Amino acid sequence: MFSATVLTLFPELFPGPLGASILGRGLAEGRWTLDTVNIRDFSDNKYGSVDDTPAGGGPGLVMRADILAAAIDSVSRNDRPVLCLSPRGTPFTQARAQALADGPGVIALCGRFEGVDERIFAARQVEEVSIGDFVLAGGEIGAMALIEACVRLIPAVLGSASSLGEESFEGGLLEYPQYTRPREFDGRAIPEVLLSGDHQKIAQWRRKKAEDITRARRPDLWDAYQKSGPIRSDKNKDETS
Ligand code: SAH
Repeated sequence: MFSATVLTLFPELFPGPLGASILGRGLAEGRWTLDTVNIRDFSDNKYGSVDDTPAGGGPGLVMRADILAAAIDSVSRNDRPVLCLSPRGTPFTQARAQALADGPGVIALCGRFEGVDERIFAARQVEEVSIGDFVLAGGEIGAMALIEACVRLIPAVLGSASSLGEESFEGGLLEYPQYTRPREFDGRAIPEVLLSGDHQKIAQWRRKKAEDITRARRPDLWDAYQKSGPIRSDKNKDETS
């Protein structure tokens, strides 16, 4: 079963959005687990502080390696990777979410202040992961985003509520446009082909739109798509074989 453990100074933020809707139901039904570790519990002083000024000077505070190590060591890793949310990290992707969802889970380390003492990464095999090229105030929202992306891929959590096969990033493209009722809205009609009942034409139209959107919005994805052809996750491969 997928188990998420979050190391944070703000455990009260969890489950937060992870407790809502399908993921929340899955959590309540024990289809995945979430627990938090309060890093402050591993402070070695009566003030409960976990950080100190940066060596070499500069603004802000840095979370101490010894305290973070004690917090990490308190968790049973069970083959789970420890991922530190960090704007310097490897960009988190749908492929990574799928790989993690297929595994035992994740331990997420949330930074605050200026971040964490560099030595923790090598000392405890911690990998830095980024959720985008912007700077948040703390790792908690990043951890939620990462965990949510994984858990929604777990078949036992999802049930038959959604088909994952044709979403953005699956197959290396962004998603085609979606429409529903009413048939006309503000003088705008649903594209005729979608009402035609011709499944082959519909599939062609959607593929074309997905390609157009990807080319226009994400030249980086378009390049990769053209070089390597459609990327299919292992899960989808299994389903079609
Ligand atoms: N001084 C750091 C930023 C610290 S922001 C730097 O310049 O790299 C404080 C914390 O917020 C970080 O330790 C990290 O856990 C989290 N965070 C900020 N931006 C993030 C991002 N894009 N992805 C993941 N975590 C992020």
